[in-house]
Amino acid sequence: MDRKRIFLSSPTMHGEEQEYVKNAFDTNWVAPLGPHVNAFEKEMQEYTGIAHGAALSAGTAALHLAVILSGVKQGDIVFASSLTFSASVNPACYEKAVPVFIDSEYETWNMDPEALERAFEKYPHPAAVIAVHLYGTPAKIDRIREICRAHQVPLIEDAAEALGSTFQGKKAGSFGDFGVFSYNGNKIITTSGGGMLMGEDEAAIARARFLATQARDPAPWYQHSCIGYNYRMSNVLAGIGRGQLLHLEEHKARKNAIYRQYREAFSDIPEICMNPLNPEGDANNWLSCMTVEPGSRVTPAQIMDALAEYNIETRPIWKPMHLQPVFADCDFVRTKEGRSVSEDIFNRGLCLPSDIKNTPEDMELIISIVRRQFGR
Ligand SMILES: *Cc1c(COP(=O)(O)O)cnc(C)c1O
Repeated sequence: MDRKRIFLSSPTMHGEEQEYVKNAFDTNWVAPLGPHVNAFEKEMQEYTGIAHGAALSAGTAALHLAVILSGVKQGDIVFASSLTFSASVNPACYEKAVPVFIDSEYETWNMDPEALERAFEKYPHPAAVIAVHLYGTPAKIDRIREICRAHQVPLIEDAAEALGSTFQGKKAGSFGDFGVFSYNGNKIITTSGGGMLMGEDEAAIARARFLATQARDPAPWYQHSCIGYNYRMSNVLAGIGRGQLLHLEEHKARKNAIYRQYREAFSDIPEICMNPLNPEGDANNWLSCMTVEPGSRVTPAQIMDALAEYNIETRPIWKPMHLQPVFADCDFVRTKEGRSVSEDIFNRGLCLPSDIKNTPEDMELIISIVRRQFGR
């Protein structure tokens, strides 16, 4: 097909990234440590208002270290959002914990605090709670945190999709005992691949850096008292991250504008509903999503197929974890019997192209194809 591809969310570089990378080469800091790594951590701390951060090779690595540092052990129960990407949950399984999935609520699509309370009634002593801010919409994180505190259980906040989002004026990722960010290629800013583990506990983040660099004891030889990992971020990639961070607010404004344009363009079609925003927060709108109302003749698959014909990339809503074959034996907690909220959103939704390089013509094309499916 010779028609130009319109992407869901692809990297957008500006120029400063290359200057930082060149500096890494010029100074021969081509290593999994160095001045860009330290500076990137500091700049993320300033941006998020979170006291400490460890730059890592991936958001998944950050989640894994958060799970370890929360004290999760083999056989422990870990509560996790069901409607999320598998990387939210897999690290609990690396430690041989047993995930119990929590359903979503409709107001933000994220972990339902009521379902979380019910899960605590059934399993009073989970080792950790992993809550995500899906597509950049902040969860009801104050209530989730309150419940975790009441039960004295560590909260791991998966803010991989929500860098730049806020809730009650504070940055997503700053509510949990640990906040996790990702700089994968399709996220709002990228280092090609990378992540950061952040938190207020200086000793815990220092421990994360120790574990991420093969857990070498302070001894004159290579001595190890625990199992380590090779999870540190490269100084070259941290350079890309520093350049990208300069443009995060700009990316967010662009993503917000894309969301608003879709919402406006579909406002006369009662069968279309955009993904929810949290009125107490400020979303980065990493991906704009829509659902078709129950009973609509148009299916998400039909919309995705129609867009694909024009070489336009879309994506289904994350398939809930409790419906994944690999997690078939795991428990799932919801507030009402019948079809779950997360399954319902999965069945009726799709992610629309949210690339900040989309031109006005690209947006017009996407919108007109979607509208056509509804006879408009
Ligand atoms: C992208 C993502 C991750 C994983 O981050 P990586 O940097 O790709 O390892 C974790 N959780 C969620 C919700 C994500 O979207």
